[in-house]
Formats: sequence, C-alpha cells, structure tokens
Amino acid sequence: LGTGAPKGGEDVAMFIPLFFVPQGVDYMFGIVGIPVTEIAFAAQELGIRYIGMRNEQAACYAASAIGYLTGRPGVCLVVSGPGLIHALGGMANANMNCWPLLVIGGSSERNQETMGAFQEFPQVEACRLYSKFSARPASVEAIPSVIEKVQYLIAVRSSIYGRPGACYVDIPADFVNLLVNVNSIKYTECCMSPPVSMAETSAVRMAASVIRNAKQPLLIIGKGAAYARAEENIRKLVEQCKLPFLPTPMGKGVVPDNHPNCVGAARSRALQFADVIVLLGARLNWILHFGLPPRYRPDVKFIQVDICAEELGNNVRPAVTLLGDINAVTKQLLEEFDKIPWHYPPESKWWETLREKMKSSKAASQELASKKSLPMNYYTVFYHVQEQLPRDCFIVSEGANTMDIGRTVLQNYLPRHRLDAGTFGTMGVGLGFAIAAAVLAKDRSPGQRVICVEGDSAFGFSGMEVETICRYNLPIILLVVNNNGIYQGFDTDTWKEMVKSQDATIVAPPACLLPNSHYEQVMIAFGGKGYFVQTPEELQKSLTQTLADTTKPSLINIMIEPKATRKAQDFHWLTSSKM
Ligand code: ADP
Ligand code: MG
Repeated sequence: LGTGAPKGGEDVAMFIPLFFVPQGVDYMFGIVGIPVTEIAFAAQELGIRYIGMRNEQAACYAASAIGYLTGRPGVCLVVSGPGLIHALGGMANANMNCWPLLVIGGSSERNQETMGAFQEFPQVEACRLYSKFSARPASVEAIPSVIEKVQYLIAVRSSIYGRPGACYVDIPADFVNLLVNVNSIKYTECCMSPPVSMAETSAVRMAASVIRNAKQPLLIIGKGAAYARAEENIRKLVEQCKLPFLPTPMGKGVVPDNHPNCVGAARSRALQFADVIVLLGARLNWILHFGLPPRYRPDVKFIQVDICAEELGNNVRPAVTLLGDINAVTKQLLEEFDKIPWHYPPESKWWETLREKMKSSKAASQELASKKSLPMNYYTVFYHVQEQLPRDCFIVSEGANTMDIGRTVLQNYLPRHRLDAGTFGTMGVGLGFAIAAAVLAKDRSPGQRVICVEGDSAFGFSGMEVETICRYNLPIILLVVNNNGIYQGFDTDTWKEMVKSQDATIVAPPACLLPNSHYEQVMIAFGGKGYFVQTPEELQKSLTQTLADTTKPSLINIMIEPKATRKAQDFHWLTSSKM
C-alpha cells in the first residue's frame, strides 16, 4: 500500500478489512493492538483520517458523533475481546440515539476458536443487542469474492438506511494479513444515499387540517430533524404558520434558540397546555415525559412524523401519523399550507401565556446569575460563558445540573451543533464527542471552536482523552464545572472534618469526589492551557484569553458552590408528580 504498494497482479495484504473505504467513510477512531494494528496503518495510508484514542469507549462515542454530524458513519476500530467490549457502550449509545456507526473489531484466529484463544469472545453475538446489523464476513475460501465486500456494504448501508443505527463487522485475525491478488479485488461502489420517503397524501392533508384547527399548537423539534437536515423547511413552517416551537436538547439549533417563536424557556407550560403537538423527529420517551398527563393534556392531539413505522403510536394514540423523511414530510405540509394559506394568530391567548412564562422564567435565571456570592452558582457561570460563546461553536455537554442548567442558558444558533448525554443519558460521552466535532471543525471550517461543558464527575469518565486532544492539537475548550461531586459535593473544610478522625474509605459519601481537584493540571500536563477559576472575574478573563488563543486546547476548571442546584421547577425531574 502507499508508495511502496504492489501494482496489479501482486499479492498484497490488508485489502480485505478495508472494503469500507469506497463507502464514503472518512473517519476512523480506535486503539491499535493485535490484530488490528495493520488495519489502522493501512487506513491512514488510504487517506482515512485515523484518530488514536485512549479508551475504546470514547473512540466509539467519537465515531458515532461523526455519523450524526455528517450522515455517513464514522468507524470505530477495536481489538478483540476487551477492546470490543469497551466499545459496546458507544454502540449502545449510538443505537439508542439512532445514529449511524460502523464498529470494526478484530477477533481471534478462526482455527483457535473455542480453544481459549487470545481475547476470544463471541463478538458477533455480543454486538447484536447493541446494533441493527452484526456479522463476520464469510469463510476464507470465498476471499476475495463479493461476499466480504457485501458485508461492509450492508453494514454501511444498514447504518444509514431507515432508522439509523450501529453496525458491527468482525474481522478474524487470520483475515488481517491474508495475501490476496490485487487483480481479484473488485471494490464495491459506494452505497447510494438513503432513499427519501414521503407520507401518504391523505395523512398530510389531515395533519394540516388538525394544525389549522388547533387552539394551542406546538411544534417539537427533535434530533431526528437535525439528523434529517430539515432545518430549512422546518424554519419555513415555523415562520409561515407562525407556530411556537420547542427544541429537544439536541434539536436545539435546527431553528435558532433566539428565534422569536422558540418557547424553550416555557417548556413545561408549552407541553402541559398544548392541544395539538407536531413531533418532528422526537420520541415520546422519558425526555418528553412519555406524552402523558400530568405533563400533557389528556386530550392533546399528537401528529407524529418519523421515519420508523414502529415508533408511531408509542405511548400515545396519535391523531395523525406521517411516516417518512422529516425534510420531505415538512415540505409536504408546507405545500398544503401554500394551497390554502393559513397562519396561527400571533396575538392569541396561547402566545400571551407562553410569553409571560418565558419572561418570568428568564427573569428568575437572570436573578440567580446576578448573585455575587462565592463560590459561584451554575447560572452565574453559564451567563458568563454565554456572553463570550462564539455563535458558530459546537457545544458538547454532559453532567447532571451542568448539562440541564447549561442547556437552558447556552444558546445554539446552528443545527447539529449540540451533542450531549442524549436518549440513553450516557455520562462519559463528552470528550469523545468533542474530539469528533473538533476533527470535523479542523477539516471543514478552520477557526471553529468546540466548547465542551463538563461536570467534574462527567469529565472523569474519559479524562485521559485530554492527551488525545493535545496530541492532535484540537480546537477544544473544556469547561469543568466543578462542585466536588456527583450531583453535589462538599467544600474542602467539611471534607477535611469528615475524614479527620476516620478513614476516608469508611466515611466518604458515594456522591462526593475529592474537593478542590485541579483538573486543569491534566491539560497542562500535556501542553495545553489550564485555568483554575473561583470568581466571575477570573472566569471572564480566562474565557477571553482562551478564545483569543487559537494555538492550543485549554481547560478551565470552574469552582462552584458544592450545594448549588437548579431554580425551582414546576415538576420534579424524571417524575410525573408535581412538586
Ligand atoms: P430527541 O432525543 O431529540 O427527542 P429522538 O432520538 O427521541 O429525538 O427521536 C429521533 C427520531 O427521529 C427517531 O424516532 C428516528 O426514527 C427519527 N428519525 C431519524 N432520522 C429521520 C428522518 N430522516 N426522517 C424522519 N425521522 C427520522
Ligand atoms: Mg459535579
């Protein structure tokens, strides 16, 4: 391969595992080791961007983010047994999020199977629960017939057709260095883009009529709409019909958060009293409180738009189901509203209710943000961050309060620019996601930054990926919002008092982490810039400096009040009962 590559007719190794190359797969994240090392080298020589990570789990999160952001799967390359098992977290997360992903795992030699081979594990079976397709190319006798290529083709196609998801292809060790004749290799052509399906015309007409008759309508924009690249048509629908809309966490930015029709700041109110809700690529799972009372009216009419037929009717009986691609279906709806023009009256009582709630909710956050007491609270931190955030940045976020409060304050102006714990509520995704977004930013829009807002606990899951960030000099600014714990922690004095007379292994509460940890030193250790900040002034200054300096990644460790929490909510988080 590469410059010394044999020309036609010669025997060459390593072609077999690389059949995905012509499938529009540009990025590979992984960790090398037996038996996949050669695959990584070969991929890099073939022009695939290979990013070596520190744990397969983070590598898999990164590869899955590429799938969501680009619509073509990223590859996660892992070694056999434990390597593959580490990646299962990423596969599960991708599959739950409906994101395309291709995991390629080396496995032990076939003639040692069941003998206790090195890292032997039933990998194809193991991946089945976490993927929509899991297979090993057929026997060595068939090489290099079409079969192997077909496995890759199916995997890539399957990951992006229908509801997107994770796919696994298993490469036994004895395949990797197999010599094959160059002339006998026929590369499969790149699989076609997913076919676009439209909803039934009668259903579209009915949906338009239900929307027209709504007294208190609401559009919910989910990450399915972001993935579908439906931003232009959805924005038209919002503006032409003058409808209020609510983005889900990763639906943020499909229509900008600062759009006058965005009712994000009145979320609970909007859900609770809407009489017609159009779901654009969002499932009625825990994130949307299952679509059930008391969070919704018992008589609310749902219009569900989804590419996955099995999703339609989950948890509620929808008034109308529109099976199809969100972008195409939104266009169909727009055509209905072109035929018989209509818009929702902007001076309605409903708008008044929503606007009032947004105003009071923003005022309450602002009041908390303006508190001068130290250590800072979440709102103070996020208001200062929001002030300086570049409009085109990716926002990656995870943590409990860090993610939930951050989401309400930090604004997204562009689609597919927010990545977080997602449908599966996965902690530990942040650094992998940030790395993927930063690699894309570096390749496609130089100068663009990735702001990764992590709780201190969340940061710990993949903290060593800071080395990866520094090795590739990625344009990432890590903010660790540090409350010394999971949910809540202790201040240094309380902690010292607690452990003074007894062994910490006995008294340390399960939720607490070592107080006053200097996470910024991790970044400094690898040559990046680190800041330890305790006041709003220090925070502002470090943000200004780090945003101005594009030469290095940085980490700002932001100390906050260990007992800081959210402002009063109408509903308890994750429960349906009223507070
Ligand atoms: P959120 O977390 O934002 O609520 P979900 O992940 O729950 O979003 O829902 C996304 C939905 O979008 C899934 O049900 C998925 O099937 C659907 N989806 C993904 N791509 C498309 C598409 N191109 N057209 C229509 N629906 C899509
Ligand atoms: Mg914490």
